[in-house]
Amino acid sequence: MGIKFEGVNHSYDGIKKNDYVTAIKDINLNIEPTNEFVAIVGQTGSGKSTLVQHMNALLLPTSGTMNIFDNIITPKKNKNPKLKPIRKKVGFVFQFPEYQLFEETVLKDIKFAPKIFGYNDQEAEKLALETVKLIGIDESILTKSPFNLSGGQMRKVAIAGILAYNPDILVLDEPTRGLDPFGAKEIMNTFYNIHKEQNKTMILISHDMDIVYKYATRVIVMNNGMKVFDGKKEDLFKTNYHEYHLEKPQILKTIDYINSKLNYNIGYNNYSEEDLFDSLKAVSTNE
Ligand code: ADP
Ligand code: MG
Repeated sequence: MGIKFEGVNHSYDGIKKNDYVTAIKDINLNIEPTNEFVAIVGQTGSGKSTLVQHMNALLLPTSGTMNIFDNIITPKKNKNPKLKPIRKKVGFVFQFPEYQLFEETVLKDIKFAPKIFGYNDQEAEKLALETVKLIGIDESILTKSPFNLSGGQMRKVAIAGILAYNPDILVLDEPTRGLDPFGAKEIMNTFYNIHKEQNKTMILISHDMDIVYKYATRVIVMNNGMKVFDGKKEDLFKTNYHEYHLEKPQILKTIDYINSKLNYNIGYNNYSEEDLFDSLKAVSTNE
């Protein structure tokens, strides 16, 4: 059992008394504990962040039930299991995670989360150093203040802190937001490699359909607080995705163009330029 939602609703209190905003409505969802790469997409305000904040019990449902690694979560706070074991299982990379850096040195910052989860100083240091290697942080910055780093490096350090305690599932709320294309690619490749090498389930919120199409396999579309699509990425872009204000990934636009110009029938199961090149080569050698 990974993460399961059953009829989950969440309402925030409004500004006026007795006023409320229903941010997610009747969500049913199953996410496997390993090996999934799920993208969550939809317009701003569609409920993406609210949805994922339930996944490690940062928010509790207003109604409905959740099961997170066999911990049952209900609307009633006092009935719920301890939150720490849940948060250890499901790591959460917030938007702009670098805003949460606070320690004097990079190394201390990366060690902070593992220590919260019960590792002693030595163990935390070992985990931090392993993570530093894993994601390619230059060891010369470990003794520096995190506040003197570039934006991209700061984000990497903040993410390292979460990776260091080795959660089973990682939730990433717009992890490339505000980064330049180079930094965005680097961070996404890091997550992808961890997903591939350690079979970790990744849950990614992104507005960038190119990133979604390249890395995810399954896509969940949120619209007005409701889950309106949950399936394979290839299938999403054969549906009425326009209705949800989503843009077709560039690679699919290119495939459409080639198909229309050359009367080919290249499928949407090409996820990168390399894939497309191989498909084209196969067509031309068969001709
Ligand atoms: P998304 O991440 O897709 O942009 P959110 O989950 O942040 O969507 O927001 C969904 C809805 O809930 C929006 O209408 C938003 O204004 C509202 N909302 C989000 N957070 C709060 C909050 N802390 N208090 C009140 N309303 C909120
Ligand atoms: Mg959001």
